[in-house]
Amino acid sequence: MPAIDRLKKSFDAAHHGYRSNYSSEWTRPNNEPRTKIRHWKRIRDAALAHGNEVGWNAVANCQVGAYCHSSYCRDCRSRGVASHTRRMLALHRELHGDDDQLARRNLRFTTVLCDLVPLNEDMIQESITRANKTLKSIRRSFPGLGTHGRFELEAIDVVAIRSGVCPRKKQVMDYLNQNDVASLIDDRVLVHFHIILFLNGHDVKQVQDKFVSRWPGIHRVKIDTFHSNKSVEDSICKLCSYMLKNRLTYNHSIKTDGFNNNRYIRDETLSFLLSMSNRCDDNFLLIYSKNAS
Ligand SMILES: [Zn+2]
Repeated sequence: MPAIDRLKKSFDAAHHGYRSNYSSEWTRPNNEPRTKIRHWKRIRDAALAHGNEVGWNAVANCQVGAYCHSSYCRDCRSRGVASHTRRMLALHRELHGDDDQLARRNLRFTTVLCDLVPLNEDMIQESITRANKTLKSIRRSFPGLGTHGRFELEAIDVVAIRSGVCPRKKQVMDYLNQNDVASLIDDRVLVHFHIILFLNGHDVKQVQDKFVSRWPGIHRVKIDTFHSNKSVEDSICKLCSYMLKNRLTYNHSIKTDGFNNNRYIRDETLSFLLSMSNRCDDNFLLIYSKNAS
């Protein structure tokens, strides 16, 4: 039996019922857009098109005792979101009890865009290390400040960004690439992180100024209060899930909804992201400052 059929078979066996959640319609990327695709098939095709059998095998054969840890694996993603959410909720309850107003004063959802880098594991690791050091130095300036969340690697479709699909996104990418995004031809990875910021009594303006001074340029730092129309706990659950995305399409907008464009991430890029997502030390993406419970 050809290798690809063996892989398909083992995956079908391990993920019985999984595919029923998805539409049976399927197109290759960049053909006519579809609103739904068979998630696993897209991942498999991208990985195998680039000889990434190791990455695909890990997801396809994910099981107790050999979890793949990939956010592209439905089960591992669910486990990851659940453990992240449990930890955040425990910390929130410990610090705020039932005091909703205190929680809303204390909590901010924060996103920081760090670097635009090639599909290169070492460069991504360096970017994450640098950002972690910066976060640590910020926490030293504000004792008790909590930063809990996760790094995310977003595929950037340089060609589309260059062509101006979102002027604001182009502006940021230009800034991150020494004002020269026009010189790029291949996909890049936007290393960024989402955290829930626990102010713990510190002035939000001062904290924000510090973040902006360390990550200068427009649109790089975004610090928001929680939605008033949702409970704090609901917001925490939603944000913890948001931090562990497994998108198959590019986000062509600076906003969070720009991935609805049906422009599928190219095979090579998706295969690379799969490899990064199932590194056995996947904890390198997590951000938990010391006061996490
Ligand atoms: Zn898995």
